[in-house]
Amino acid sequence: MLTIFDKINIKQLQTFFDDEEKCLAFLAEEKWHDGFVCRNCGNTKYCSGKTPYSRRCTRCKKEESATAHTIFHRCKIYLPDAFKLAHLVCNSPEISTVELSNTLQMRQMTCWSFKKKVTQCIDEREDMSIEGKIELKEIILGNGKR
Ligand SMILES: [Zn+2]
Repeated sequence: MLTIFDKINIKQLQTFFDDEEKCLAFLAEEKWHDGFVCRNCGNTKYCSGKTPYSRRCTRCKKEESATAHTIFHRCKIYLPDAFKLAHLVCNSPEISTVELSNTLQMRQMTCWSFKKKVTQCIDEREDMSIEGKIELKEIILGNGKR
């Protein structure tokens, strides 16, 4: 699933992530790929939290949602659309907000602000990466790994 995500095109992305739950499942799987570690107390044991795919520390009871520490945190956009937007921007960073707005049937302002987030993430990644190769996965999880 993870390697597929880096290589899929927009159509496949659309088919694969056709509802919020699937996006959340993906984020959770990516984020806690190496296991859960509570950001608050370092505990590695968890139970499920209140929202889908969130995890709750069994020691300090702090809950972390699947979107926390990713660019989708507090994202007002329907997640499958946000995934598409991120994908489009990653593949053609020069894409205009007008184009995004037309393609995704979303308000230009919404596209603009989320695109800015994605672009910032790409810029920061480029500074760090030697080959300058950016994977969508890194963009999505960028905030969490820094
Ligand atoms: Zn904890």
